[in-house]
Amino acid sequence: MFGSPMIDAGLAGVFGLLVGSFLNVVIYRLPQMLEHQWAAECAELAGKPAPEGPPVNLVRPRSRCRQCGHLIRWYENVPVLSYLALRGKCSACAAPIGLRYPLVELGTGALFAFSVWHWGATPAGLAWCGFSAAIVALALIDWDTTLLPDDITLPLLWAGLIVAALRWNGVTLPQSLWGAVAGYLSLWLVYKSFKLLTGKEGMGYGDFKLFAALGAWFGWQALVPIILMASVIGAVVGIAMKFTSGLREGGYVPFGPFLAGAGLTAMVFGPASILGAIGL
Ligand SMILES: [Zn+2]
Repeated sequence: MFGSPMIDAGLAGVFGLLVGSFLNVVIYRLPQMLEHQWAAECAELAGKPAPEGPPVNLVRPRSRCRQCGHLIRWYENVPVLSYLALRGKCSACAAPIGLRYPLVELGTGALFAFSVWHWGATPAGLAWCGFSAAIVALALIDWDTTLLPDDITLPLLWAGLIVAALRWNGVTLPQSLWGAVAGYLSLWLVYKSFKLLTGKEGMGYGDFKLFAALGAWFGWQALVPIILMASVIGAVVGIAMKFTSGLREGGYVPFGPFLAGAGLTAMVFGPASILGAIGL
């Protein structure tokens, strides 16, 4: 775009910080919006009055301190810098602001900078920025709520097929298509067998859709490396949480964040090198 790869990557990084700031809003509000929508649908089916109007959308109302309701002004909402300037505290009531906010901004910024540095200011670079943003949002929403919203997984799947059809990422359309099909079916089979054997549900349909989306982006050949990587990350985090007694109520840890982590690893290092990294 501007000739120098470093400048392009830097600009992409700054843009990524801003997108990360928006993702923080999506991660916090999208599950609330969905729950409201489901409550409305249930009420309608039951012939009861609809619940109160939508509490939030992605734009309104403006963000407030969750502790004291202080309206967050634009200069308190600058990615990373505001967090540092406020020393991680609300300017009105000094309630701590989660460290996750600046980390999501920094992480998204780094992924955008990487994408444009690696693929250049090209359609492919832009596509991988979009992939990163969707993956970051899915990982954290699933971690918080054990939901993987269709509003993100399905567009991500379609985008993977389109990117392959346009030959932007070195994956052919058949590889992408069969990746999506095999990704969905393989986890669905695992889910059904596990349920048959144990009577428990170890995953949800969102996991199948996310894995299908990864198959669409990386092609069917990448599915085995990605699922192995996700399992390794999941086992490490699971054991760490057990030792720090960080397991939540019911001990359920969602699988989506680990699939997402494996997807980002595949993006950065290439799916083939994952097999080498885990000793295969
Ligand atoms: Zn406050």
